[in-house]
Amino acid sequence: MHSGQPILPPGRASVFYGQGQPFELVTQPVPMLQPGEALVKNLYTTICGSDVHTFSGRRFEPPRVVLGHEITGDIVFLGQNHPGIDLRGETLQPGDRITWAIFSVPPGNDAPREDIPQKSSNLFKYGHALATDHDIFNGGLADYCILREETAVIKISQDIPLQVAATISCAHSTVAGALRVAGDVAGKKVLVFGAGMLGISCIAMCKEAGAEWIGAVDVDDRRLAFSKQFGANAGYNIADGIPTTLPWPEADLVFDMTGITKAMEAGLDSLRVGGVAVWIGAAFPNSAVQVDAQKIVRKILQIRGLHNYNFDDFLAATAFIEANYRKYDFAALVEKEFTLAQTEEAFAYAVNNKPVRAGVRI
Ligand SMILES: [Zn+2]
Repeated sequence: MHSGQPILPPGRASVFYGQGQPFELVTQPVPMLQPGEALVKNLYTTICGSDVHTFSGRRFEPPRVVLGHEITGDIVFLGQNHPGIDLRGETLQPGDRITWAIFSVPPGNDAPREDIPQKSSNLFKYGHALATDHDIFNGGLADYCILREETAVIKISQDIPLQVAATISCAHSTVAGALRVAGDVAGKKVLVFGAGMLGISCIAMCKEAGAEWIGAVDVDDRRLAFSKQFGANAGYNIADGIPTTLPWPEADLVFDMTGITKAMEAGLDSLRVGGVAVWIGAAFPNSAVQVDAQKIVRKILQIRGLHNYNFDDFLAATAFIEANYRKYDFAALVEKEFTLAQTEEAFAYAVNNKPVRAGVRI
């Protein structure tokens, strides 16, 4: 049977077997695509905070997994019945540089609500799937990625630096979702807890959305310095704990990227009347947040949560990066670069040096 799929050299994949186990670089032939799939040559993968959590044993994945879900690459081949268009209606063809959503909803599985596709049943997530002898190209730390049927793809310019393009599909899209659930940002005073990739992206997006004032809260002066380069008016280092009298002004909007109980509690205490707290960091089990219900009621506060993002957020994040990658030095946030064969070193660096991101050039 002839599908027109080009014969390609076998691809490498860096397989993770669990905390404390060495990565294994395996080589496998590229399988024939199923209908609706697309083959991508991965070019760059950034190591997300959740990858680091997995590496460190704080989060659990299948026993054999190719990590990495902040990826960019070029289309090699579109399988039979692939629609050949991206999320913006642009034609797709081999050679196109793309970003794609971290998840794919298998056909026949409905979203719980139209604007929450990321919570559909049987969701497939890149960089989180079991690696098998027949299906290993499903994450970022490999030469190839096979995009499942109905994966949302966006064609992007090759002018966007690879290390910036890679971060669209997790960090920036999640932050675009956080701004969506936050509501109007223009003219608001904003506090951002946690100045890693999500926090810094949030600061830049709030700045571009017309926030009146933005404060960054973190425990690391280097990250607070980045925050100011990306639009924060002030940075607050709380490495010694959060003072009883809060050192920052009251805010209309508080974003929590930390998932740390004390930070979320301080965030609620920082809100002025009518304020909104958006929580996206608490994607891991932690102790319960103490909420003074009377304060929520009397100050008319709202808490809104978000996990991952929807297709509108993915579009908004891509448009944001296209409009701003020359204005803000997002490439500088990928503080060190490694090769695929150096996956182990890349993770060790991410754990020990806590860069905003470590990058892997494939
Ligand atoms: Zn991520």
